Amino acid sequence: MPLMIQTKADETGKEWLRCPFCRRKLLRLEEDSEARGVGLWCVRCKCELEMDVTPGENGHEVTVKRALRRVEREAFCSDFGG
Ligand SMILES: [Zn+2]
Repeated sequence: MPLMIQTKADETGKEWLRCPFCRRKLLRLEEDSEARGVGLWCVRCKCELEMDVTPGENGHEVTVKRALRRVEREAFCSDFGG
């Protein structure tokens, strides 16, 4: 199963796509933002994410299809696609 994330606007009315591991802000989302197979890099936890972003009624539905995380020289791969 891919990892599903529901985003919603914060107290300032802005909506952010956050890293599922460290919660760092990765991408600012507008109401109609939409993406398919987009690759994002989290500098904090050295994680590469592949995801789909679909606008919904209240916020966005984010599907993390793949996450590649590099810790020091060790690399481990977490494939949410099963
Ligand atoms: Zn992170």
